Amino acid sequence: MNKFTFQNSTKIIFGEGQIAEISSNIPKDARILVTYGGGSIKSNGVYDQVCEALSDHTWDEFGGIEPNPQFATLMEAVKLVQTEGFDYLLAVGGGSVVDGTKFIAAAAEYKGSDPWDILAADAKVESAVPMGCVLTLPATGSESNMGAVVSKGSEKLSFGSPLVRPQFAVLDPAVTLTLPARQVANGVVDAFVHTMEQYLTYPVNAKVQDRFSEGLLQTLIEEGPKAMIEPEDLEVRANIMWAATMALNGLIGAGVPQDWTTHMIGHELTALHKIDHARTLSIVLPAVMRHQREAKKDKLLQYGVRVFGVECGTEEECLDIIIGRTVAFFRAMGVPTSLSEAGLSRDDIEPIVEQLRTHGMLKLGEHGAIGPDEAREILELAL
Ligand code: NAP
Ligand code: FE
Repeated sequence: MNKFTFQNSTKIIFGEGQIAEISSNIPKDARILVTYGGGSIKSNGVYDQVCEALSDHTWDEFGGIEPNPQFATLMEAVKLVQTEGFDYLLAVGGGSVVDGTKFIAAAAEYKGSDPWDILAADAKVESAVPMGCVLTLPATGSESNMGAVVSKGSEKLSFGSPLVRPQFAVLDPAVTLTLPARQVANGVVDAFVHTMEQYLTYPVNAKVQDRFSEGLLQTLIEEGPKAMIEPEDLEVRANIMWAATMALNGLIGAGVPQDWTTHMIGHELTALHKIDHARTLSIVLPAVMRHQREAKKDKLLQYGVRVFGVECGTEEECLDIIIGRTVAFFRAMGVPTSLSEAGLSRDDIEPIVEQLRTHGMLKLGEHGAIGPDEAREILELAL
């Protein structure tokens, strides 16, 4: 196992009716800005629960944060925080609202001339407005991690800082019952791929991390299709919600090599072609598995045996079956597994490779061995 430091300070407040708890988790004298997305919280009762919980607090709201949150929108909120003196942010929504609010938190206190530098030039986040969140879409893990992804035109970039990790996250699985099927599927697939990108590398004898990861993968494979067939089942939603948080809260990634190739290529697919985040991942991951079949052989076989119970003859047969089972899981979730299913062709590959180059994605993978040429090969395998 590799060396690591693990600290996750987000207080998780889990279960039905727990939105009421935000009241006691935000200082009474705070001036709160509640941030949200396109309005789903106003039609499904979440907004009303937040209003009720904040009845003894001073607060205002900023809505309209879009999926794949846009820099320009977030900067409007930054101005509001600065001019009105808000000193606490409460994000209410999915990963886009939580990510967007993390950026607002950092940009509002940024001393440099252009807050875009936090994303584009690795400018250090020196301070941030404290924040909490009410999560409405299990997927990203953003509710208890320190990362965020923000878009501007055809750029989709990320940053991370412990200063933007939410102080608390309310996870009420009941609020996920109003999610459209497409978003349920997207969330399960995003969490699955987060787990894979911290697991599918090479063995370092990290038994706890491996078995946690395998447990999360099995849970998502079992519960994901159930959520599509039995959308009213709250226990299914509860298990998916907790699995998605655990998949990217730092725990399974501590002390192990990681490979974020799928996410990095996926971000360019969203930036250039507006494909939903998770759907870029279901397209790219099987191609990464095929391309890295030899380099990742040990962990691929371990995954196949422990997660799917695959029994087979030769290693090569096994690897075919294991990659096939992964693709079958994505298909069961109704997400695409090839570029052509998303309407893209060979002609679309070079601009994606060019974007990766522009964004300095020259050494992806656990060995830093995936450069532009390898990314092109992966995209060809994804056709
Ligand atoms: P999302 O973009 O936050 O939300 C997708 C859609 O779901 C929105 O239209 C939203 O509507 C709707 N929605 C959310 N909760 C709902 C509910 N309970 N009922 C009905 N509709 C609901 O989706 P996401 O997958 O959570 O976030 C994706 C973003 O996170 C991407 O930008 C991705 O790159 C990023 N990401 C971040 C991390 C990280 O670690 N920080 C990791 C992976 C991905 P409203 O807008 O109306 O609420
Ligand atoms: Fe993701």
